[in-house]
Amino acid sequence: MNRDECLALDARDPLASLREEFVLTEGEIYLDGNSLGPVSRGAQRRIHEVVDHEWARGLIRSNNTAGWIDLPLNLGDRVAALLGAPSGAVLVADTLTFLLAKIIGGALDVQSDRHVVITDAVNFHSDLYIVEAMARRAGREITVKAIDRNTLDEHLDDDVALVMLTHVDFRTGEMLDLQGITSAVHAVGALMLWDFAHSTGAVPVNVEEAGVDFAAGCTYKYLNGGPGAPGFMYVAPRWQGVLTNPLPGWLGHARPFDFASHYESASGMRGFITSSPPVIALGALGGALETFERTSMAEIRVKSLALTDLFITLVEDALPGVFELVTPREHTRRGSQVALRHERGYGVVQALIERGVIGDFRAPDICRFGFAPLYLRYVDVFDAVEILVDVMMSGAHLDERFAVRLAVT
Ligand SMILES: *Cc1c(COP(=O)(O)O)cnc(C)c1O
Repeated sequence: MNRDECLALDARDPLASLREEFVLTEGEIYLDGNSLGPVSRGAQRRIHEVVDHEWARGLIRSNNTAGWIDLPLNLGDRVAALLGAPSGAVLVADTLTFLLAKIIGGALDVQSDRHVVITDAVNFHSDLYIVEAMARRAGREITVKAIDRNTLDEHLDDDVALVMLTHVDFRTGEMLDLQGITSAVHAVGALMLWDFAHSTGAVPVNVEEAGVDFAAGCTYKYLNGGPGAPGFMYVAPRWQGVLTNPLPGWLGHARPFDFASHYESASGMRGFITSSPPVIALGALGGALETFERTSMAEIRVKSLALTDLFITLVEDALPGVFELVTPREHTRRGSQVALRHERGYGVVQALIERGVIGDFRAPDICRFGFAPLYLRYVDVFDAVEILVDVMMSGAHLDERFAVRLAVT
């Protein structure tokens, strides 16, 4: 594949026009939308509307007149459309770790005769911390088993209350079998919680079809909701009204403006709300979701696989044996990122950033490149690999300035 062929692919790309919806820097190639998506014009516009009109002019009245109070559920419905979830089953609130806490706490109460929670030993650290902490507070002895996920079957028995896995591995980009694992977990009467941090907006998922009990994810990665944007949680309709919120607050009450001194949960997902909605951040997310509403996850997936295939092929052709490909080649096992292992990986990523190719590094030795089909072009992939080749050939990654790591890698 040469540069002209990549330009030809861009010319026929059905998603090409969506790139104009993003504010991107000329001369930069952004391969880190899996950590923090870029700002969209829709998000900018909504932030201004919220601040200059709803807040400045409407003040407290905007709770009603601008629908602030219903934002967590209305945005939840828009995220639900990306998850194959029905309306009313997704809430946008808090950040991912808090949402995991709510689901884990609720699920452990429901599964009151079971004593084991299973997760992945290489899960994201925040997921591991919160599951340990919630298990300690369950009111009974709970063992958290952080296992090699490939041995899950050996650990499943009738004492397992909950299995919590991240659908796309944040380091390797490996995607797990949503349906198969959910079914195996259900076969022993356990419940399944999926973390979709690296799935939502990146790969199609269908929680209803797969029979998923619970899911949560963040919106500042592929969904482009903005730094620190609130996360989302999904509770299958069959568990709503059964699972209770372990962190209740006034806005999850059935009648918050009665100011009652005892808690009575609102019905449906509203009962999982704790606190006031972060209205400006939710405005940004609402604007960001507009780009997704102009396409489909199926169309996004086609381009995502084409971009990651292209990157892998170009790197292997130009730099044979230089990197170890950590991400699976099989499409069914690949998310929307490519992870390359190199012992001087931190230097590789820093040298690329200095040349305008933004990826990131995950210790100890993984260079991570995210491919977001809404704004990346095939020619960007081509140019990024050319720059990578230049870095490796010139030894720029060996510069001693890269011996000390920055706080955020
Ligand atoms: C990004 C990410 C998080 C981050 O959680 P926050 O509480 O939103 O900061 C948690 N888990 C996984 C798997 C992630 O990728």
